[in-house]
Amino acid sequence: MTSGGAARGPDVAELVARARDGQARAVARLISYVEGASPRLREVMAALAPYSGNAYVVGLTGSPGVGKSTATSALVTAYRRSGRRVGVLAVDPSSPFSGGALLGDRVRMGEHASDPGVYIRSMATRGHLGGLAWAAPQAVRVLDAAGCDVVLVETVGVGQSEVEIAGQADTSVVLLAPGMGDGIQAAKAGILEIGDVFVVNKADREGADATVRELHHMLGLGEARAPGDWRPSVVRTVAARGEGIDEVVEALEKHRAWMAERGVLAERRTRRAAREVETIAVTALRERIADLSGDRRLDALAERIVAGALDPYAAADELVAGVTEG
Ligand code: GDP
Repeated sequence: MTSGGAARGPDVAELVARARDGQARAVARLISYVEGASPRLREVMAALAPYSGNAYVVGLTGSPGVGKSTATSALVTAYRRSGRRVGVLAVDPSSPFSGGALLGDRVRMGEHASDPGVYIRSMATRGHLGGLAWAAPQAVRVLDAAGCDVVLVETVGVGQSEVEIAGQADTSVVLLAPGMGDGIQAAKAGILEIGDVFVVNKADREGADATVRELHHMLGLGEARAPGDWRPSVVRTVAARGEGIDEVVEALEKHRAWMAERGVLAERRTRRAAREVETIAVTALRERIADLSGDRRLDALAERIVAGALDPYAAADELVAGVTEG
């Protein structure tokens, strides 16, 4: 099935075995396949499938400069202290360029670069159809299969898919900082709705109390909730000094336990997988339609519409039938 692919690199099964054995280079290679939308990806995903579902996936989002990478690094330290293996995926929804485990990652996470229990990886789309919507969960799957207990998915740039990427996590952390007008920005981006845990970072700065108050107000934390509903946690941190990070881990564990108890974790993961399948299917469909444009079948349908011989809905039905059969 993948003849021809074998000549271009190590056997996929072999790579997956090495990744599961903790070899960072194998993990990096598998993520490169995801990032580059490699034709081998189908085979990679099939090989990874039996090893998925163990990692706890935490999304971190917030405006640039709020302290995401500082907080992520501090969280890695905290999780490593308790012996957990950690994966970090820094995703940039606004950049078409890959940071791919080069200089950027070392600068960002310097103190963890030599720790064999930590995988750090930057990722960008390179303009593929479907983009990060499918790439991020597949990269998470690689890290999961490689034995990470926790995967931190940090959105680096701000882009239209920022909320979507954050929403692909088991738990979403939204970071704010005083004096950045974040409350309002966050509300606009629809980010308040996806936050399970809110971190007010730079609590050493003036205005932290006001930011916490504003947040409580916007989240309606003073209001009554149905018993059993999740009440988003608000944690203050000074990430640059590691202060409050243990409390963030505590809030994460609390949310994870709450989700597990109520079946919410399974529900979120099922919804996530459904979206992933949908994205892959729609992308495949689009690619086939693009192929059809090449052989003028789409143009022929369009010409019939212009001539009044066909309506656009019937034309779309014909198109979909044409690309899905055989
Ligand atoms: P990101 O763009 O959201 O990833 O933000 P960074 O983690 O790169 O942090 C932006 C700047 O804020 C850096 O100069 C950090 O050193 C600084 N910073 C991070 N956390 C804190 C904090 O708790 N207090 C203060 N005063 N500065 C911080």
